[in-house]
Amino acid sequence: MDATMENKMGLPPPYEPTAPAPVPPPSYFGDNPPPPAGFVAPVAPPRTTVITNQPTNPRPVKLGPGPTGTTCPTCNKSIVTRVDYVPNNRTHIVSAALCVLAGCCCGCFVPYCMRSCKTANHYCPACKAFVGNYQPS
Ligand SMILES: [Zn+2]
Repeated sequence: MDATMENKMGLPPPYEPTAPAPVPPPSYFGDNPPPPAGFVAPVAPPRTTVITNQPTNPRPVKLGPGPTGTTCPTCNKSIVTRVDYVPNNRTHIVSAALCVLAGCCCGCFVPYCMRSCKTANHYCPACKAFVGNYQPS
């Protein structure tokens, strides 16, 4: 009796590091022809992604927390934006939190001095038009 039993253990699947690769949007266009008129699909997906209220961003300008080189959407000039820092709700929240945590108002003014707690409003230096803003996150 030769009991050479090969204990074949299941090999673990090759470890793949889950890289945070951005998932490309599915391209439904062109893959599936639209059903004929009158045809009703038997299975309706529970969550339909209807893009009716698509946010039409008139200014696809990527702005940073500081002066950013871009093209003015108003005068179409190549500009470096002029930045105005204005306190936003977060500034007040951080200020209030500091006030509570510190027990006094010694640190209340700090958020108002920090650019990272303010909204950066970008303006065109040429035509003074509002280009966009940057919300620190
Ligand atoms: Zn301009």
